[in-house]
Amino acid sequence: MAIASINPANGETVKTYREMTPQEAAAAVDEAHETWKSWRATSFAERARLMKKTSAILRGRKNELAKLMATEMGKPVKQGVAEAEKCALACDYYADNAEAILAPQAIATEATRSYVAFEPLGVVLAVMPWNFPLWQVYRFAAPALMAGNVGVLKHASNVPGAALAIESMFLEAGFPKGAFRTLLIGSAGVQGVIEHRHVRAVTLTGSTPAGRSVASQAGQVLKKSVLELGGSDPYVVLEDADLELAAQTCVNSRLINAGQSCIAAKRFVVVAPVLGEFTDRFVALMRAKKVGDPFDDATEVGPLARHDLRAGLHKQVLASIERGARVLLGAQLPPGPGAFYPPTVLAGVKPGNPAFDEELFGPVAALIEAKDEADAVRLANATTFGLGAAVFTRDLQRGERVARLFESGAAFVNSLVASDPRLPFGGIKESGYGRELGSFGIKEFVNVKSVYVKALPPAPAFGTE
Ligand code: NAP
Repeated sequence: MAIASINPANGETVKTYREMTPQEAAAAVDEAHETWKSWRATSFAERARLMKKTSAILRGRKNELAKLMATEMGKPVKQGVAEAEKCALACDYYADNAEAILAPQAIATEATRSYVAFEPLGVVLAVMPWNFPLWQVYRFAAPALMAGNVGVLKHASNVPGAALAIESMFLEAGFPKGAFRTLLIGSAGVQGVIEHRHVRAVTLTGSTPAGRSVASQAGQVLKKSVLELGGSDPYVVLEDADLELAAQTCVNSRLINAGQSCIAAKRFVVVAPVLGEFTDRFVALMRAKKVGDPFDDATEVGPLARHDLRAGLHKQVLASIERGARVLLGAQLPPGPGAFYPPTVLAGVKPGNPAFDEELFGPVAALIEAKDEADAVRLANATTFGLGAAVFTRDLQRGERVARLFESGAAFVNSLVASDPRLPFGGIKESGYGRELGSFGIKEFVNVKSVYVKALPPAPAFGTE
C-alpha cells in the first residue's frame, strides 16, 4: 500500500510520501538507541515536564489535528477534537503518576535489602492503526517515554500526516530528536525493524492477522510483544434494563468513529421478552444519525477510512444476509465518490453467520435473540474475540455478576465500554495479550529487576600480640 493521505469523503489524493528505505529505517533506530543511552538517565521530573508540554501542545492544536484526521481518515471534526483532548489526558496521567507507579518495591527476604526495580528496555517499536490516529499512538508513547524508553512508530499507511505531526509535537515539546521517531515504511518493512538488534520489543494495535504475523516475527528473535487486536464486543440487554438508556448507549457505541473502533459494540444480545421493544428503539436511533461530511459540525457518522475497507464490509454484510440475517436498516451502498456506508441493522443473527463470527468494522449492528440471562452470556462468549463487553440491567448485583462471567478484557455495566488512561486496556483470546494504559500498561515495557543486597559480615578484628 502506498504511503499517502487520501480523503475518503471524496477519494482525492491529498499528499503522497516517499517510503523510507530499510537503511534509513535502520539508521532511525540507531539514532533512537543512541538517544536512549542518555534518556534513560533523565529524572521523572524532567520527563514529566516535557510530557506536560506535549499535552499543552495537543490542546493548543486540537482543531488543526482534528481537521487532519478528518482529511486523512474521515473522522468527524468534533470527534477528532475530543480525541486530541483525550491524548492530552493520557500525557498528563503518566506525567503525574509514572514515578509513583514505577517506584521500587521493597520485598522482605534474607537480604539486607531487596527490592524490585522497573527499568526501561530501550527502543520499542509501535505498529499502529488508522482508526484513532492520535490516541492509539499516545497511549503507547506517553507511558513508554515516561518509563525511560524511546519509541519508533510505524503508523498505518493512510495516516502519514498524523504520524509526522506526532513526531513534530514531541520535538516541539523538547524531547530529544531520537526519543520518538516516525518511520515512513509499509508493513513489509516491519520485520526488518523488529529484527534490528537495538529494537527490544514491539507493540501492535490492529487486526488479528497483522497481530499473528508480527508476534511470530518477534517470537523468532525472542522479543517481547504486546497485541491489541480486533473485537466483536457483545452488549447484553436483560429484561430489567432501562431500554432507552440501553438503546442509546448501544447505538452510540456501534456508530462511534463510523463503527471503526475495536471496542465498538458489534453484537447486541437481547433477551426475548424485550427484543421487540429494544429493536424498535434501536432502529429508530440508528436511522436518526446524521451521516455526512466530516467537516460539518452536525455530522455524527463520517465516511469509512478507505474504499477497500468499505468494499470488505459490504461483502461481509451480503454474506450475512445470504446466511439468514434480515435487514432492518441500511445495507445499500450509497452513490457518490465517498467511502460512506449507511448505519445498518441486521436481525436474526446467529452463530455461524459472518455478522456473529467475524468483526464488522463499520456501522453495522447484529441483533441476536437470547432465551434468558444464561443463554445471553453463552452467546456473548461464543466468539473468538475477547476485548470488551457490557450488560444492561437495573439490578447492579446482577449486572456485576454477569460482567464477571464475560470472557473479555473489560466488562461494563449500564455503560459504554471506553478506554480510560487510569484503567488497563486490552483483550484475551484472539483480541490479543498484554495491556495498555493505567499502571499495568506502563509496566509492559520495563525490565522487572530483582535487586538483592547483602551486607558483608563484620570484618574479623586483628589484635596486636
Ligand atoms: P491492520 O490492517 O492490521 O493495520 C494495523 C497496522 O498494522 C498498520 O500500521 C498496518 O500497516 C500494519 N500491518 C498490517 N499488516 C501487517 C503485517 N503483516 N506485518 C506488519 N504490519 C502490518 O488493521 P487496520 O485495518 O488498520 O485497523 C483495524 C483493526 O485494528 C481492527 O481489527 C480493529 O479491531 C483493530 N484495532 C484494535 C484496537 C485495540 O486496542 N485492540 C484498537 C484499534 C483497532 P499498513 O497500514 O501499512 O498496512
